Amino acid sequence: MRIAVIGGGVIGLTTAYALVRQGHQVELIEKRDQVALETSFANGGQLSYRYVSPLADAGVPLQALGWMFRGNDAPLRFRPKMSMQQWRWCARFLLACRRSTNRRNAAHLLRLALHSQQVLRNWREQDGLDDFAWRANGKLVIYRDRASLDKAAAGLNGDGNQQLFDADQCAAIEPALQPLADALQGGIYSPGDEVADCHLFCRRLLERLGRSPNFQLHGGQTVTALRSEQGRVCAVRLGPEELAVDHLVVAAGAASVALLRPLGIELPIYPLKGYSLTLPLRNHAGIPDTNVTDYDNKVVYARLGDNLRVAAMVDIGGWDASLDQGRIAMLQRLASEAFPAAGDYRSATQWAGLRPATPEGTPLLGATELDNLWLNVGHGSLGFTLACGSADLLCGLIGDQRPAVALDGLTLTS
Ligand SMILES: Cc1cc2nc3c(=O)[nH]c(=O)nc-3n(C[C@H](O)[C@H](O)[C@H](O)COP(=O)(O)OP(=O)(O)OC[C@H]3O[C@@H](n4cnc5c(N)ncnc54)[C@H](O)[C@@H]3O)c2cc1C
Repeated sequence: MRIAVIGGGVIGLTTAYALVRQGHQVELIEKRDQVALETSFANGGQLSYRYVSPLADAGVPLQALGWMFRGNDAPLRFRPKMSMQQWRWCARFLLACRRSTNRRNAAHLLRLALHSQQVLRNWREQDGLDDFAWRANGKLVIYRDRASLDKAAAGLNGDGNQQLFDADQCAAIEPALQPLADALQGGIYSPGDEVADCHLFCRRLLERLGRSPNFQLHGGQTVTALRSEQGRVCAVRLGPEELAVDHLVVAAGAASVALLRPLGIELPIYPLKGYSLTLPLRNHAGIPDTNVTDYDNKVVYARLGDNLRVAAMVDIGGWDASLDQGRIAMLQRLASEAFPAAGDYRSATQWAGLRPATPEGTPLLGATELDNLWLNVGHGSLGFTLACGSADLLCGLIGDQRPAVALDGLTLTS
């Protein structure tokens, strides 16, 4: 089949890769001159397959109220806008904060994440996909607050894939945490989690795709409209021209909302801005080898080759991805308190990106009411983790195959 994919971020590229692997012809349309320059550029790098609890959880609304008075220090910051879309998203987010809803959505995410891990393993082992700073290094979520740790521990299912550690055990598994041990109540360790550089991964996928006669990249081309007739999309508009399509996958991150609205498809996606720092390391002493999430400060740390990536924060306040120097200063302070040995965080490369988030934290995959229009959107804070599994599932759906894992909770209608 001839399939067009809009969006050259990690979701669009993995979709294109899965489709070409299955023998389809793919045209990938990306508005930037190069791929993965938007949200997939400098994210946290964590392949967080086991720790997938959505942001919407019991207690978060109350916490968020407190954070409103903390300014730049708040892990989550709400900036109200004159936007029905923002308010509708927030109302749905509040509903998703029920503990039972959080658990249900976490189960959907876990199913997809574990499938994603398997698909990436296949691509690495069968296709020799490598050279993107991938490591199987495990993940440790550390807690400074006893109540938060107890709440997280109550959600463990005892299968050994996630282990509850006290502060000494945390410092033993990750020696870089030793200076922090007195401040910690404990942690949750997921030995099977992984890390990689998302931008490098996207570039490697593009290199592979570029060698296939079944792949074409339309770089530096913005889709401005989709044309539909008789319940099908027949073409996408690229500037003054139209590109005819047999099937179309929308994987344009947060921009997917505006693309689909004229067709009457309202995606429940809002951009959650986050920030990162990338610090080149002089040596690895005192730097965590394991992925570390500082739960109470909501900061993630991952070593990507010879760099330390520090990522954090959620700003619910509109569609611009500009850097806020107040937020960056706060991130620099938190990182230098946690891992001072890494160097001078003021010299780190700064970045901000928009997570394309649904209120529930679950992505939207699969069919729409138009016959040949498919979605792979809304991966929020777990897009890198979920990308390969989402791409594989969507590829199966387009090919009319039985999905490898159940899709409930992961589609526009469920
Ligand atoms: C601070 C931060 C930390 C994060 N940490 C992690 C992490 O540790 N682990 C993890 O799994 N996830 C993480 N994420 C989430 C992850 O980065 C995103 O979920 C993921 O990058 C989304 O990918 P995407 O392809 O949907 O969107 P994008 O990467 O934004 O790609 C969309 C692409 O579509 C293109 N596009 C848009 N409109 C058009 C158009 N009209 N025509 C043509 N092209 C168009 C854009 O140029 C862009 O390249 C983090 C995100 C942030 C912000």
